[in-house]
This record gives sequence, structure tokens and C-alpha cells, in this order.
Amino acid sequence: MPRTAYVNGRYVDHRDAAVHVEDRGYQFADGVYEVIHLFRGRLIDAEAHLDRLDRSLGELQISWPMSRGGLRVAMRETVRRNRFATGLVYIQVTRGVAPRDHRFPAQARPSLVMTVRTIPEFPDQMRAEGVGVITIPDIRWARRDIKSVSLLPNVLGKQAAAEAGVYEAWMVDEDGLVTEGTSSNAWIVTGEGVLVTRPASHDILRGITRQVILDLASELDIPFEERSFTPDEAYEAREAFLSNSSHFVTPVTRIDDRPVANGDPGSLSVALHDRYVRFMTEFAKID
Ligand code: PLP
Repeated sequence: MPRTAYVNGRYVDHRDAAVHVEDRGYQFADGVYEVIHLFRGRLIDAEAHLDRLDRSLGELQISWPMSRGGLRVAMRETVRRNRFATGLVYIQVTRGVAPRDHRFPAQARPSLVMTVRTIPEFPDQMRAEGVGVITIPDIRWARRDIKSVSLLPNVLGKQAAAEAGVYEAWMVDEDGLVTEGTSSNAWIVTGEGVLVTRPASHDILRGITRQVILDLASELDIPFEERSFTPDEAYEAREAFLSNSSHFVTPVTRIDDRPVANGDPGSLSVALHDRYVRFMTEFAKID
């Protein structure tokens, strides 16, 4: 079935979907994006994603391409036209089309593009087997809290991971502390059973899944600390996992080719994954 993309007010065949060569997203990576999980026809945590979109746009002084309500309607229509029950919705807003000049254009209208692609309902193999990560230097800019389309360091990091035969790269800052993965937040569970993830600041993206996990931890009385950790602490951890909207909680079983604990997915990681899936299933029922 042909896919439909939304491009600046029009629903077009995905194969023909295009923006102008002088779109500032294309020329300067002058734009932001969101990825929302579509689960059984429901957009999971859509409002939290739209809040983050609002914040990213605000930080870069890009205006909304249309009202938030209008975008919601266009997003649902894009989903409807693609007829996927489960998948990922990609939303990108750039500063718009203007003659190439670094300064903000006086006139440009923000560009809005949305696409939908289908994915399997649950990444069972990732949950069952876990994934490996490598650590690499974090060479990104200082505003990683903005979900900017400028992802070159993330691209290079993910490629390095692929070449090392693993799923993700955890980036390490100049102080030797893990920031996050190239497309996920990073977590460990200490020997004492405490869940640890880096505090939300300009250093990391404040993951929507990260927040859901922290809320679940509170609800389930799982002790947690928002603090930074080193690769050495992660090597010695009882468990490790990563989180994002595409795969929820994914156990990490190897870091830099060393097994985490006995090399099997940790029980808390798997429990959080399953609880998250339950959250989505319940969400899908009531939304
Ligand atoms: N960190 C980075 C760099 C990401 O790109 C992502 C998601 O793509 C995340 C964290 C996780 O964010 P979320 O849970 O909102 O998907």
C-alpha cells in the first residue's frame, strides 16, 4: 500500500514527498523534530511530545507552522491515510525556505513535514536477548535538550556502533560521564538495586520514555537517582538498559564488549519493559 506523507499542507505520495532545496532544514539543519509511537491506532504520549516540540521551537525562535490543534488534526489525518495500526510518526519543523543566509530570514514560513512508517508491535528479540553498546566521546553541541535535526554526531556514533556489531553507542562527556545514547537515554541499576539515569539538563534530551520510567519507578517504589555515571560504573552495574519511544525499555547486556553482570537481560529492565508495554496497552484502551 502506498504511503502518504504530509508536506506543508498537502498529503502526497511518500515517494514524491519533497521540500525546496533552500529549506533551512536541508541547508543548515535549522529545525527540530519529534518521533511519536503509534500503538494500535493511538498516539502514545502525544501531548508530551508536542510540549517538547513547543519547547524546542521556542528555544530556536521558530514559530509553530500552524496551531497546535491544527497540527494534531493533520497528524491524525496523516496516520489515518497510512492505515498503519502500529508504527512511528515523524514530525519535522524547520525555519522554512529562504535564500541561503545564516541570519534568520525576515519572511520565511516554517516548513512542516510528517511521515508515518510501520514497525513491529513489540521488539521481542531485543527484550529477550538485550543489546550491546559501545562508549564513544560525546562530540555534540551544548544544547542537547533541544531536539534538533542536527544529528551528525549521533549518525556517526550509531554507525560506529553498527561497525562494532552492536545496537547503540553511549556518549561520554569531557568529565568522563555518560550522557546518553545516540537515539536513547542511558540507565543502569546499581548493586543495591537503585535505578540511575543522568539528570535532565542541557546535556541530554529529556526523553519522554525516560519520564514515564521515572514515574513508573515512583509508582512501583523502585528507588532511583537522577545522577551521572561513568562507563566504569556501568561495567560493574547489576543491570543496564536504554529507553526511547521506538523501543521503550531495551536491556543492555554488553558494554564495550564486557558482559553486564552475567550477560543476560536484567530482571528489573525486563519488568520495566513489560510494565511499559502494559502502560501502552492500557493507554491504547482509554485514549
Ligand atoms: N536521547 C536522544 C539523543 C534521542 O534521540 C532520543 C530519542 O530519539 C532519546 C534520548 C529518547 O527520547 P524519547 O524517549 O522521547 O524517544
